Amino acid sequence: MLDRPTTREGWTARAAALKIEGRAFVDGAYIPARDGATFARISPIDGKVFAHVADCGEADIHRAVKGARAAVESGVWRDADPLHKKKVLLRFAELIRENAEELALLETLDVGKVIANTLDVDVPLCANCIQYYAELADKIYDEVAPLGPKDVAMVRKEPLGVIGAIVPWNYPLIIGAWKIGPALVAGNSVILKPAEQSPLGSLVLGRLAKEAGLPDGVLHVVPGFGEKAGKPLALHPDVDMIAFTGSTEVGKLMMVYAGQSNMKRVALECGGKSPHVVMPDADLDAAAEAIAWGIYYNQGETCHAGSRVLAHASIRSALVEKIAEAQRSRIPLGHPFDPGAQLGAMVEERQMHRVLGYIELGQKEGARIAHGGGRALAETGGFYVEPTILDGATNAMHIAQEEIFGPVVVVIPFATEAEAVRLANDTIYGLAAAVWTRDMNAAHRLSRAIRAGTVWVNTYDRSSLATPFGGFRQSGFGRDRSPHAIDKYMDLKTIWTSFR
Ligand code: NAD
Repeated sequence: MLDRPTTREGWTARAAALKIEGRAFVDGAYIPARDGATFARISPIDGKVFAHVADCGEADIHRAVKGARAAVESGVWRDADPLHKKKVLLRFAELIRENAEELALLETLDVGKVIANTLDVDVPLCANCIQYYAELADKIYDEVAPLGPKDVAMVRKEPLGVIGAIVPWNYPLIIGAWKIGPALVAGNSVILKPAEQSPLGSLVLGRLAKEAGLPDGVLHVVPGFGEKAGKPLALHPDVDMIAFTGSTEVGKLMMVYAGQSNMKRVALECGGKSPHVVMPDADLDAAAEAIAWGIYYNQGETCHAGSRVLAHASIRSALVEKIAEAQRSRIPLGHPFDPGAQLGAMVEERQMHRVLGYIELGQKEGARIAHGGGRALAETGGFYVEPTILDGATNAMHIAQEEIFGPVVVVIPFATEAEAVRLANDTIYGLAAAVWTRDMNAAHRLSRAIRAGTVWVNTYDRSSLATPFGGFRQSGFGRDRSPHAIDKYMDLKTIWTSFR
């Protein structure tokens, strides 16, 4: 890899030199949509068209499903020696690392994330995830049931077959890897349907998987819109499972489509409105720092962003000031190709207006802007929103109940621990939460009482492939990451033999 540019101009020149592939990756080759349709990718950085992508539909999905089924039936990957699977997937991870700059640039152009993060977080975590599951390839054990002396029952884990992975735009490479890593190591074939806002990095993964030795037909990447490409995938009678990450609203549709078609399995990773509970004895500097990173990282376009701060009334105003200060001094907003920027552009114009609309609504509802609150860098033509704090909110407000999915944190006061628990759980979601206190008894009580898939204590957004990730309630079901993720891509078969 060349040296990293140290200026915006340097990165812009590297981006301009990219050869961008926008065609679908099906049966081991790049092909246009059957009807030749394409759609334009507008970069959120400057509002300009920078690529054209295959606008795939039902015919393209059908072709990919046929290829995926043929690969399953042939056994070329499903029945491959676990050591071979491991070797191929380890090479895949290595190739992701070797192509880090191309992947990072595409992710920045598509999504508006800052280059410092796509290069140092998104791409490495994508590669690490594939490596993690590669290393489990020869550690997936079957069982023998405890029966009487004349019977032997093997309880075998078998791959489900054809998996449709439908993913969102906020972490395309990381969430894509969370699906394809465990699905592939389990022996399935996968059709990855990236979000229409962020297809380009995923399309590169198709090429790299093939280069690593994954047989043709085992991984397809079919770009397109939700209704036109995602829906026929989720309704397809020959798809065995949909692994979905996205909004709660569309997640519910996946269950409908499964019921309307072949009762395929569904795993859902959906939205969140995750609370921080900050008790009066908390380390406010540590809490403010983590709250700021937890809501402003990735422009707040993070499913588990800590978007509700439940602050004890006695420390609320000091905490608000410290969150604003942490943002001002350590999380600067800037052009995504500025090496120092930590907060970039919103993914698209519509999302920017949605976030600004919530800031306006919050004020109408009675909250007060304590920090930020407006559009930024408008002269670039890109879609930027200032990191914002809405103070003095109540949990009943729309801004406290609905996912804003932007750099906007809502601060709500509470008086007692019992009230904090009630407010934390007063949401349809249950993805994540944090508890800030020096009293470990209170921390224990609160973390048990809050209904969420992850509860952090005196920290936020720490993550590892070793821990399962996913939600309670309308944040979904099924878990990504950890060995548990493999189970959902496999079924149990009992093979019972009796002896005389
Ligand atoms: P979205 O639900 O609009 O889209 C997600 C995916 O579904 C995209 O690929 C889209 O094309 C597809 N889709 C849309 N309509 C469809 C339909 N009718 N049939 C089939 N597919 C369809 O979500 P988004 O705006 O891309 O992403 C943001 C959402 O994702 C937020 O709600 C966020 O919380 C959630 N998210 C959750 C997690 C998690 O792990 N829990 C992680 C990241 C994002």
